[in-house]
Amino acid sequence: MQKKAINFGYSITPDRQIDFDANDRGICKRVALAEPSLNLCISCGTCASTCSAAIFTDFSLRQVILLLRRGETQDLEKAISKCMLCGKCQLVCPRNVNTRNLVIQISKALGERPPVRQG
Ligand code: SF4
Ligand code: SF4
Repeated sequence: MQKKAINFGYSITPDRQIDFDANDRGICKRVALAEPSLNLCISCGTCASTCSAAIFTDFSLRQVILLLRRGETQDLEKAISKCMLCGKCQLVCPRNVNTRNLVIQISKALGERPPVRQG
């Protein structure tokens, strides 16, 4: 008789693959042209730790930049709408990234992207 497997409470984590071919990285390129300091970001997270919006929401500028670089732009519009453009993050960024203009340029680039085809 086969023994029943013991349940230790663990489960397999779903894989998290980034499909760079399917993602739209053109938005990142356009934003980097409009605000070149995007290229200086080292994803340190200092901006996120001081962010005024992060006190009330799950907003993280660091995450926004990572998603932008990966071309995972589907949820970016909703994410950056939480930014209040207060500029606190710009004061603490060790790489002097122009964070406020970065958020503005991301919003602009997302607004200019071609509409997603239905069906
Ligand atoms: S503080 Fe500056 S360098 Fe660090 S993650 Fe934020 S934008 Fe990038
Ligand atoms: S400008 Fe936006 S991202 Fe930067 S601290 Fe203010 S709310 Fe946060």
